[in-house]
Amino acid sequence: MELLSETLVPERAREVKRAAREFATEHIEPAAAEYYASGEYPWEVLEAGMDAGLVAQDIGEEWGGRGFDLHQVLAIAEEFYKADAGIALTLQLASFGAEIVEDHGDEWQKEEFLRPVAENDQLTGLAVSEPETGSDLAGMSTTAEKDGDEWVLDGEKYWIGNGVEADWVTLYAKTGDDPNNRYGNYSLFIVPTDADGYHAEHIPEKMGFRASKQAHIVLDDCRIPEENLIGVEGAGFYMLAEFFNHGRIIVGGHGVGLAAAAIEEAWAFVHDREAFGKTVDEFQAVQHKLADMQLDFQSARTLTWHAADRVAEQDNAGYWAALAKTQATEAAMDCAERGMQLHGGRSVLTENRISRVYRDVRIPVIYEGANDIQRNLIYNQAPQ
Ligand SMILES: Cc1cc2nc3c(=O)[nH]c(=O)nc-3n(C[C@H](O)[C@H](O)[C@H](O)COP(=O)(O)OP(=O)(O)OC[C@H]3O[C@@H](n4cnc5c(N)ncnc54)[C@H](O)[C@@H]3O)c2cc1C
Repeated sequence: MELLSETLVPERAREVKRAAREFATEHIEPAAAEYYASGEYPWEVLEAGMDAGLVAQDIGEEWGGRGFDLHQVLAIAEEFYKADAGIALTLQLASFGAEIVEDHGDEWQKEEFLRPVAENDQLTGLAVSEPETGSDLAGMSTTAEKDGDEWVLDGEKYWIGNGVEADWVTLYAKTGDDPNNRYGNYSLFIVPTDADGYHAEHIPEKMGFRASKQAHIVLDDCRIPEENLIGVEGAGFYMLAEFFNHGRIIVGGHGVGLAAAAIEEAWAFVHDREAFGKTVDEFQAVQHKLADMQLDFQSARTLTWHAADRVAEQDNAGYWAALAKTQATEAAMDCAERGMQLHGGRSVLTENRISRVYRDVRIPVIYEGANDIQRNLIYNQAPQ
């Protein structure tokens, strides 16, 4: 059964999709259970991904990457997430936020910070969320104040992928205090993780996405050079919003990959398991569950690839990105829920893939903007 078929995938993304599948089969799938159990950072798989030319390669050729476009990154996401979400996130997070430097940074920043990421010599991350809020981008409290030729950062960030492992992070901080211009009060900065006053430690163990690591960052009189401001002061919110339109299409791919994993696992199980003298798949109620999973999956995947076209063409991008993110991540939850039921008691054995998928699907409905926030965006940008 070919769930992640090539039919929806544009010609130019098919070769990289095949490479991603080959890599996932060879390197991610066999390592998934072990990393899930240990919760270790999958350095070996990450390095193999770099060798395969599949990590941080959305950065343009001019800066040492392969210039993968949105559709190519989406194709990789589907394949990687079907194999294991935690490892997949680590691989895809190696350049998370660096795209903002590529789009809005100056030549010096690109040479100094972007190129080493594209050449796989450095890792980065995106530090937006805080302990008190992740949803309210105009309500965050980490500050950046100008002092001579430096910016001084104070505050805390939470949930930051690679916050410990990264060489630098793109960090979102408050630079203004205008109550009439809430969205104009924020800016983005390149913050080296070895800067004085940057302290990061891993957050407590998670129930899912075990092979990805997030950090709690404390910025205490953390000083960075003035030239580390990305783009224009006060434009941080708008740069992030633009970035998330791309990111949420990719998160759609996370949901599609996870839903495919749940279907694959459930389908195999019910065709093998016997009850009442026949295999479980012969019961119509079971067949209907599998049919519903197909409905959820195919609708979400078709929407996600269509939304990728809309975002690439900047055609009401925020609306389409939110639709895809919400539909696909919720399809993954629904498919995993049914997949668990079809596994009976064996569903809860932690060593079984379906139980890993079931725990993982709880996470993409939250990150890159909780789905409740996506619904706000969908409503507010819906065509009239
Ligand atoms: C595994 C993982 C990795 C992550 N990686 C990163 C990362 O690399 N960088 C980063 O910056 N962040 C990261 N995050 C953080 C993530 O983006 C936030 O958790 C998310 O935006 C939600 O923020 P919050 O947890 O503070 O929830 P809150 O903002 O406290 O919201 C809690 C809940 O309240 C409801 N809610 C809040 N506001 C509204 C509203 N306006 N309308 C309707 N309902 C609402 C929603 O149900 C929401 O889920 C990660 C999170 C996880 C779990």
